[in-house]
Amino acid sequence: METKIFKLLPNETKHFAIAEAAEILKSGGLVAFPTETVYGLGGLATDSDAAGKIYAAKGRPSDNPLIIHIAVPEDAERYAYTNELYYKLAKAFMPGPLTVILKRKDTVPKAVTGGLDTVAVRCPSHPIARALIKRAGDAIAAPSANLSGSPSPTSGGHVIADLSGRIDAIIDGGECDIGLESTIVMIEGDGVTLLRPGAITADALECICENVKIAPAVTEALSENEKPLSPGMKYRHYAPKAPLVLLEGDDEPVLSYMYRCQNAERCVIICYSEETEYLRNERVIDIGARGDLEAQAKNLFSALRKADEMNGEIVYAHLPPKEGMGLALYNRLIRAAAHTVLKV
Ligand code: AMP
Ligand code: MG
Repeated sequence: METKIFKLLPNETKHFAIAEAAEILKSGGLVAFPTETVYGLGGLATDSDAAGKIYAAKGRPSDNPLIIHIAVPEDAERYAYTNELYYKLAKAFMPGPLTVILKRKDTVPKAVTGGLDTVAVRCPSHPIARALIKRAGDAIAAPSANLSGSPSPTSGGHVIADLSGRIDAIIDGGECDIGLESTIVMIEGDGVTLLRPGAITADALECICENVKIAPAVTEALSENEKPLSPGMKYRHYAPKAPLVLLEGDDEPVLSYMYRCQNAERCVIICYSEETEYLRNERVIDIGARGDLEAQAKNLFSALRKADEMNGEIVYAHLPPKEGMGLALYNRLIRAAAHTVLKV
């Protein structure tokens, strides 16, 4: 199929492309659009055929549920059973990069939720995403707009590379601000369990509710046959073609390890900005300044895509800290590396 590509500035919410994209959604089609986290591949959340098309276009297993995107937090009422804590979280973090798992209402077909009785709800802050949802007049179900197994797309170019010819339209709104997918929480009583870390950190959640648990699958490998709280956790994600190894240790020994192996192996090195001048390898990727976890988050997925393009035999990167925004980076990298960590 021919994919329409609309190039918009992030604030061009009155652009005719939004109206056209909304019409495509209303007639059952698929549109990829920018959000503040990563690009989403949207279909109407009340349309089970659209959900089927999303799974097919991505090559995603249909038991891995989709997040539904709403224009304002109160719109959750149409699709889910809300509660007091939902509104407390919404007041603090919505619109923004937080997804809350709630009990599903029948307006959302099971095809969207991978057969679950719960539904993941998020209210994005990106102006184009919000304008599109409003114009569509219904929630938009949208997973990340990448082919299943490749890194989430953080620019229109990434989406075009993965999905051109497979969906009806792509709104290219430039680079995503955050670059990692939303934080996902499940409400349990007066507390939450963190299922996927993102830009809303565990510390930030603790300011709103006292009881914040971190699901073990955020940092640890699932044991065989273990049923994860979030079905997506069982899939190997974001895997670069060459094996990825995470280097754990103080900065100096890690840099000297990178220095030594760059001569010995056909490797790709993902390192901090400050380290690039010490490495002579042509396959060096700058992920951002040491300590600037926001910049590293924003660059991570395009770094993994670049690593693939460089065709190395092995990829090395720093093991991120597990604190603050570091936990989100850690979670994505540890899974991309299939938990391969080398202490140096
Ligand atoms: P993506 O759309 O690629 O960001 O992936 C969505 C993530 O949300 C997946 O990891 C899903 O497992 C998770 N998710 C969506 N709906 C639910 C739900 N009802 N319960 C638990 N996790 C969910
Ligand atoms: Mg995804």
